[in-house]
Amino acid sequence: MSRYWSDTVRRLTPYVPGEQPKLTNLVKLNTNENPYGPSPKALSAIAAEAGDSLRLYPDPNADRFREAVAAFHGVPSQCIFVGNGSDEVLAHAFLALLQHSRPLLFPDITYSFYPVYCGLYGIQYETVALSEDFSIRVEDYLQREAGGIILANPNAPTSRLLALGEVERLVAARQDLVVVVDEAYIDFGGESAVALTQRYPNLLVIQTLSKSRSLAGLRAGYAIGNPALIEGLERVKNSFNSYPLDRLAIVGASAAMADVDWFEETRRKVMDSRAWLTRQMQAQGFEVLPSAANFIFACHPEQDAAELAAALRTRSIIVRHFKLPRIDQYLRISIGTDTECQLLVKALTEILAA
Ligand SMILES: *Cc1c(COP(=O)(O)O)cnc(C)c1O
Repeated sequence: MSRYWSDTVRRLTPYVPGEQPKLTNLVKLNTNENPYGPSPKALSAIAAEAGDSLRLYPDPNADRFREAVAAFHGVPSQCIFVGNGSDEVLAHAFLALLQHSRPLLFPDITYSFYPVYCGLYGIQYETVALSEDFSIRVEDYLQREAGGIILANPNAPTSRLLALGEVERLVAARQDLVVVVDEAYIDFGGESAVALTQRYPNLLVIQTLSKSRSLAGLRAGYAIGNPALIEGLERVKNSFNSYPLDRLAIVGASAAMADVDWFEETRRKVMDSRAWLTRQMQAQGFEVLPSAANFIFACHPEQDAAELAAALRTRSIIVRHFKLPRIDQYLRISIGTDTECQLLVKALTEILAA
């Protein structure tokens, strides 16, 4: 606290990102990064761009990246907004589209950045309780007085998927407001709502290259929606930072979108490892929620989750534990390489035997 802080800063409750430890040779399963590297084509595009051109500002609209996203998804590039990671795209969406005099709705358990943006922009919100089994009930969002709705699908940290038909039912029923669907994990087994953006002018779908394209360190994300929604986002972006994506990010992200083979191969490997890890942990007595993400959400009926996380840490394995109501007995575990998953299972076996 400082007397020099503005009133706004005094009132903020910032987001706390998962730990990025400085130590190497940890089994790092705490922030849902992809265990496989980025597309080699993305890496060579970045290497080729690292030179004299960095003198010059990048394309403020990152058209090359927008076109690569458009080509991948089969939508017009006027339907695409890009940003410095999807967190930035989300932030602009909160300010441009979700700030109204009626409350924004989102689940009680979801990405913890949502209430942070509400705090930053002074957006009032109400949370809607997930059902007992942590699924989203669309029904609960249909009648309520609201100024906007945001859902992560699959949801984080629960890993549960809302079926596309249910997303459509919500979007169709709430044409009075914007529905934002944050699809950070959709490529690990879900069906994207991107195609619906061509039919529903109130739907904005946000995706990231941090997870399924293994580029968390490059910072690239995008939104897809009706050109009128995109224009709203651009107005905010051009009032904040005209060059959110640097030259390296633009070429790297574009090449990653184009390398469909690498994308398919690595996401398949993550999904296979998820199935293996789920079976192993179930055999150890864990309850594992059905996951459509690159992480699982699990609890053990006889073991305290915080203690388990601490015991794993002494074995150099880091997972995420949230000290929050309803989920404080769960661990969120990112899917690692096969070796990392095996190390985790071995460590859990030792801990549970002790
Ligand atoms: C990881 C994540 C993001 C943010 O990803 P960026 O790295 O900022 O692109 C957004 N939403 C959810 C639910 C996430 O888990």
